[in-house]
Amino acid sequence: MSDTQVAVLHSVQQFLDRQHGLWIEGQPSASDSEKRLDIYNPATGQVIASTADASAQDVDRAVMSGWRAFVARSWCGKLPAERERILLRFADLVEQHTEELAQLETLEQGKSINISRAFEVGCTLNWMRYTAGLTTKISGKTLDLSIPMPQGARYQAWTRKEPIGVVAGIVPWNFPLLIGMWKVMPALAAGCSIVIKPSETTPLTLLRVAELASEAGIPDGVFNVVTGSGAVCGAALTNHPHIAKVSFTGSTATGKQIARSAADRLMGVTLELGGKNPAIVLKDADPSWVIEGLMTGSFLNQGQVCAASSRIYIEAPLFDTVVSGFEQAVKSLSVGPGMSQEAHINPLVSRAHCDKVQTFLDEAQSRQAELITGNRGPNDQGYYVSPTLVVNPDASLRLTREEVFGPVVNLVRVADGEEALRLANDTEYGLTASVWTQNISKALEYTERLQAGTVWVNSHTLIDANLPFGGMKQSGTGRDFGPDWLDGWCETKSVCVRY
Ligand code: NAD
Repeated sequence: MSDTQVAVLHSVQQFLDRQHGLWIEGQPSASDSEKRLDIYNPATGQVIASTADASAQDVDRAVMSGWRAFVARSWCGKLPAERERILLRFADLVEQHTEELAQLETLEQGKSINISRAFEVGCTLNWMRYTAGLTTKISGKTLDLSIPMPQGARYQAWTRKEPIGVVAGIVPWNFPLLIGMWKVMPALAAGCSIVIKPSETTPLTLLRVAELASEAGIPDGVFNVVTGSGAVCGAALTNHPHIAKVSFTGSTATGKQIARSAADRLMGVTLELGGKNPAIVLKDADPSWVIEGLMTGSFLNQGQVCAASSRIYIEAPLFDTVVSGFEQAVKSLSVGPGMSQEAHINPLVSRAHCDKVQTFLDEAQSRQAELITGNRGPNDQGYYVSPTLVVNPDASLRLTREEVFGPVVNLVRVADGEEALRLANDTEYGLTASVWTQNISKALEYTERLQAGTVWVNSHTLIDANLPFGGMKQSGTGRDFGPDWLDGWCETKSVCVRY
């Protein structure tokens, strides 16, 4: 397979070789901490770069840089059309650097170069342009007052939408660029300043994108990047008194910690958290759609997708057909490094995560669960887990209830749709769900009865800039995307004028 590997661009190698600091005031900024964080290539286990492990003082410098830019109105004071123009230029620059960003993403995160190009950078561009367009659609309302006024007193009242200030974006490692830009773009479109913290495992693409933001004309101090641990850098950011809102994507446990510290300061939060997402396959579903759609839904990015289908409930008459279709598909997947153009399944993000996923499988194996596994990784250095189907797992196994976040999917036989619905909703999570059927009445009924922020019919993992996305139950609070997205990044100010 090595002959099909993509050659690393010279510019990518140069970027990896740099002594990375933070990005503050529109330029690289050395950390005052001596500590460094190594960045590993998941396909080899080798260190490929290192970044600063920011201290609380570094975070303070980044937030204050955002605060000064906000108070000086260097960004929020621009006409919306001017901000839109700069953001579109920013998108064009990202597009011009597609290959470079895709390679950085694959080298630090592990995913296929094809997915990095088409999905990570491709979708980032789509969201960037969609969000840039929202800049010129921010609007308040004119409102007539409802209380009786003294004779002759005349009033006019309206609302204005104003940027909320300096915001923090905290990003996980599964889609570092895309999820990072889901925080950067609405903040900038609304006129806020942002301090973004990538995952300590995958900080490189956001550091590169910060340079492109400055090149596009985003004023100094408006877009800052701090790299470092969650415990020091992340905590200092969420606890900083000048942060007006935190937009967090990551695990439910960390999300709860952030919500607690936000409560102390009555700070706004958006939390996009974990999922244990069910798919229900009814007996009249088209098996070819089911296999194709749910193979992607389960194994895209090695299952390291918050919205991934991880529990598939199949009505008995279709069970054997679906299981054998899945088996055939899983066994045909080639496993190899992300820089290979041919490999379908790539390494997981880190040794720690790989080991964690393996513990779920070890428990299942030790309890004699029926596992169907696909191909193995090419060597024992990379962080590979073979794609795995777990057939009718016992309900007491951890992988039936907990988020595995790996290339593992449960296939469960159910007597009927009612049993499937009961099992699908029997979870603390509520991020996504899907139902597969050709019966329109059943489909509509299930979209109402499934407890999830997004429900798909005959599809899974289709996320779109124009469709609000977020979780119910322990999967989070707030919604991202859609025409009203910027409301979450604006304050509503009421203005009342007597004349
Ligand atoms: P994580 O919670 O460990 O880390 C996420 C980010 O939070 C990282 O940048 C980390 O450094 C930071 N962090 C950790 N502790 C912190 C603290 N005390 N204060 C502030 N920041 C802190 O999650 P992860 O392992 O990087 O990502 C995987 C998780 O993310 C999975 O549970 C997955 O479901 C979830 N996720 C959810 C969505 C969604 O849209 N709902 C999308 C992608 C990933």
